[in-house]
Amino acid sequence: MQIKRLRLTGFKSFVDPADLRIEPGLTGIVGPNGCGKSNLLEALRWAMGENSAKSLRGGGMEDVIFAGTQTRPARNFAEVSILGEQDDDEELEVVRRIERGTGSAYRINGRDVRAKDVALLFADAATGAHSPALVSQGRISAVIAAKPAERRAMLEEAAGIAGLHVRRRDAEAKLRATEANLVRLDEVIGDQE
Ligand code: ATP
Repeated sequence: MQIKRLRLTGFKSFVDPADLRIEPGLTGIVGPNGCGKSNLLEALRWAMGENSAKSLRGGGMEDVIFAGTQTRPARNFAEVSILGEQDDDEELEVVRRIERGTGSAYRINGRDVRAKDVALLFADAATGAHSPALVSQGRISAVIAAKPAERRAMLEEAAGIAGLHVRRRDAEAKLRATEANLVRLDEVIGDQE
């Protein structure tokens, strides 16, 4: 999937709606310290379903909402939209929105979906929140220092097969639940004989 545009509203320092066009090829973000470069990358990860407060440099989930400055009041919601183009040239818009007190909601092309649907969509497209295509500060040295198992996970993300692990875990959980049901069924049948 080719990501074409990122739109932020009320996300961290981006209080006013801001659009970032992403052209084909490698995209670098430059600017003075504290201007919001890392916030942009975090917005991309957040809209892809990232929930780890550590990787979003905040204490709680609502810390991504514009917290206000001396001249501007805090916002009540943050929204990030990713506009992408799939391999079949179809456009796809993924939106994540968080409101104070109500948590996050996700939409794909205007349809309400679960966080898991968004994570799987990007994992299959090899561009998930942990994708090696998103290179933040310190990431290069982390790749060099990574243990073989960690490096394998990165390669799997890059190859677009990370989503298969999630599906495998889901399938295994369903299998266990079904096996437990079968055991229970045997017991019930046994009781009746
Ligand atoms: P550096 O080059 O120093 O790494 P940067 O360009 O990556 O900086 P960011 O770290 O993305 O900058 O942005 C930091 C700015 O975002 C700070 O000014 C911080 O106050 C602001 N900021 C972070 N979270 C919020 C929030 N919830 N509300 C308002 N402003 C926020």
